[in-house]
Amino acid sequence: MSATGEGGRYLIRGGTVLTMDPKLGSLVGDVLVEGGKITEVGVDLRPPEGAVLIDATNCAVLPGLIDTHRHLWSAAVRQTGVGWDYGAYHMTVQRRWGEQFTADDVYWSQLLGALSALNAGVTTICDESHIQNSPAHTDAAVKALQESGVRARFGYGFPSVNVASWMFGPTHTIPEDIRRVRTELLPDDDALVTLQAMLRGPEMTGLDVATKDLEIARDLGLRSTMHIGFGMAPGIEQLSDAGLLDSDLLLIHGGKSTDEELRMGVAAGASFSISPGTEAFMPGLGIPATSRVLSVGGEPSMSADTEVASSADLFSTLRAAMATDITVRNALPEYYGALPEVTPDQLLLSATLWGAHACGLGDKVGSLVPGKAADIIMVRLDDLTMFPGSDAVRSLIAAATAGSVDTVMVDGNLVKQDGKVLGTGFERLKPRILELMDRLQPRPGSGPVDTPFSV
Ligand SMILES: [Zn+2]
Repeated sequence: MSATGEGGRYLIRGGTVLTMDPKLGSLVGDVLVEGGKITEVGVDLRPPEGAVLIDATNCAVLPGLIDTHRHLWSAAVRQTGVGWDYGAYHMTVQRRWGEQFTADDVYWSQLLGALSALNAGVTTICDESHIQNSPAHTDAAVKALQESGVRARFGYGFPSVNVASWMFGPTHTIPEDIRRVRTELLPDDDALVTLQAMLRGPEMTGLDVATKDLEIARDLGLRSTMHIGFGMAPGIEQLSDAGLLDSDLLLIHGGKSTDEELRMGVAAGASFSISPGTEAFMPGLGIPATSRVLSVGGEPSMSADTEVASSADLFSTLRAAMATDITVRNALPEYYGALPEVTPDQLLLSATLWGAHACGLGDKVGSLVPGKAADIIMVRLDDLTMFPGSDAVRSLIAAATAGSVDTVMVDGNLVKQDGKVLGTGFERLKPRILELMDRLQPRPGSGPVDTPFSV
């Protein structure tokens, strides 16, 4: 375990500091952390008494990465769905395996997902949790988040039992148990793990239920997320027409939403989460909307979505964003050629400051400025993968992996140091995950359990 600085004091010294703040910019220098907060960023800072010194020479020092949409509960069945379309994913993961997850399974799988995220330098996650099979499942998911040390928005969703009735059609509003979770489990909006509502939105439930769900969430003082833009209905336009589109909404995917809908969303102050990794891997979700959101003045944020078809490593998501942008620009030059190019600097913003804005945490995290929480990562620029790392931002986008992440701090607490996640969580969860695999018998690439449908 690491030495803990007196009063939570750490001086991170001599790194290439990418503050992601428009005024502070980048510098070779130091970051001072005291009591869980960043208190100073500068050159040759004097270490206060009792501070632990962390040598950041040959490292990029940047805000912890922010993933604005990840279904953490299904981490255990990671990588099984590479090559599936959305229908196959739905039939296999949501309809078959989700129903078989016990509350204990949710705890261990969720912990695996959260620790893997931290290992990859992802310090904040909007957890899209559609495994509310019972209150015990909900409690287990929240407990794993709280014990992992990650900063999270826990997005209370719906059960993975009779899932079709929840996901498609106007049968249910969001489960009543969200009220218990709000008042008893996650009442504190300043805690490391806070509550939001994972709503299904008008494209899944129709507008009446979507309206009622939003009323419930807003009545509880919660921000909401919605998967949207699958091509089934103009969901953003419907929200706008109904006067429901607002800045408390995080709209996920949007690949088949029209340009006008994206414009409506940005104009209303709503945010967007793009998942270029899964959108490219899982046909049916449309073309990643990164450059289209930029073109209407928005700040796209990034998400890995699900490890069933993607990686816990958000750097690979950023690479997918760049790759898909260049591909569609070349393949469809008449349309995409006229849109703004997605730059490496914008991509790093999308995974830091813009991600913080997108999940309503812009005043807390997303950039290295005094007063913000000390969510900080150090990425080695001198290992075989990154050396000589002559342009830190481009090196991060092009080549960084979870293995490049040397140090991770969340809220002033070290959770990874010298390339190793601290604590015994991974060792403890291994036998439980293997036991779950024995029960589920997932076979990577074996395909869906039923006739998939297309979205
Ligand atoms: Zn998703």
